[in-house]
Amino acid sequence: MKILVINTGSSSLKYQLIDMVNETVLAKGLCDRIGIEGSFLKQSKGDADAIVIEKRLPDHKVAIQQVIEALTDREIGVISDMSEISAVGHRVVHGGEKFYKSVLIDKDVIKAIEECIDLAPLHNPPNIVGIEACKQIMPNTPMVAVFDTAFHQSMPKKAYMYSIPYRLYEKYGIRKYGFHGTSHEYIARRAAEMLGKAFEEVKLITCHLGNGSSVCAIDKGYAVDTSMGFTPLDGLAMGTRSGSIDPAIVTFLMEKEGLSTTQVNTLINKESGVLGISGISSDFRDLDKAANEGNDRAELALQIFAYRVKKYIGKYAAAMDGIDAVVFTAGIGENNPGIRKRTIGNMSYLGISIDDTKNNSTIGVEQDISTPEARTRVFVIPTNEELAIARKTKKVLDDNNY
Ligand code: AMP
Repeated sequence: MKILVINTGSSSLKYQLIDMVNETVLAKGLCDRIGIEGSFLKQSKGDADAIVIEKRLPDHKVAIQQVIEALTDREIGVISDMSEISAVGHRVVHGGEKFYKSVLIDKDVIKAIEECIDLAPLHNPPNIVGIEACKQIMPNTPMVAVFDTAFHQSMPKKAYMYSIPYRLYEKYGIRKYGFHGTSHEYIARRAAEMLGKAFEEVKLITCHLGNGSSVCAIDKGYAVDTSMGFTPLDGLAMGTRSGSIDPAIVTFLMEKEGLSTTQVNTLINKESGVLGISGISSDFRDLDKAANEGNDRAELALQIFAYRVKKYIGKYAAAMDGIDAVVFTAGIGENNPGIRKRTIGNMSYLGISIDDTKNNSTIGVEQDISTPEARTRVFVIPTNEELAIARKTKKVLDDNNY
């Protein structure tokens, strides 16, 4: 069974074709600058270098057509016919309260995703465009929607409600939804395997630390809390996002600086986080370099970032009455031993003790970085959202007797 995984953005479309027999990536690629001058398709086969082809990609339908052409191409392709694709798994950012698991896409599902547009105005519209484009080109291929929010739907009300008038939850659905759910679940399931226990037996804190970052508390197989909220702005300090701040700062700044809602939104989403603090970069490689060279604000940005992660781990350990493991993933979590050390280097009260040699040598690979005597394990587990989407797509097909 071969599954095509699609992740559609407003002007881009990432894809992977995965053979589910041995879970290998047959080909992966990207259509970029869709609808913009200079569009192109980039595809790589197995471990080979990517081939970049300039293509006119006026819209997502043409982009999908070109993806199918590239996948079936005699030279750069990996299949001989589109019919070899058993199903398409679509990453959908927001499923609101309607979706707590992946679903087979039909008209009602598309309508329900449309109803969540208010909650994710930048993400759900291109996701729908991607689904519609695939349906036109592959009308007989089953499509599955895998939601970023679904895994967090198990949170109890006390975790997802905000302390604002209840009617606003009823009127607008204002509550915590959480994001990166597919990644949190994927690394959590792998962590349970590494602990040699069932997913339903363990208590985990998963830290997805990348340009966007979030932490998730998982109690015996269920997400019980997470740091992102109504939108992906809440929680940790991120590359350019402020994370949690006193909400009064927003109205204060609007008054003092005469900012519009758009301007204040830009400030907290694009000009804040570690970029805003350091004034240098949102990229942790740049911040590490600057801090090593004695830049105080780069150092402060790293401290603030790690301190927030540390506090979330403490909060969630308290919420779950202890933990079996902490897991790090994504660009920073997988590749930045310094941030890992700053975050959990001093957490003996939780039974955490990391082996510095293992931590320092763990870059982008799976590893238990704890000392043998540690009561609570610390794992680095590279995330693989595409594989997670492909697995979920396969499960939906199996459950629906395809
Ligand atoms: P992501 O959004 O998951 O791609 O993560 C982006 C962040 O991860 C950036 O701040 C990068 O500095 C960091 N990152 C990604 N790859 C590496 C790497 N190989 N070494 C160090 N940091 C990395």
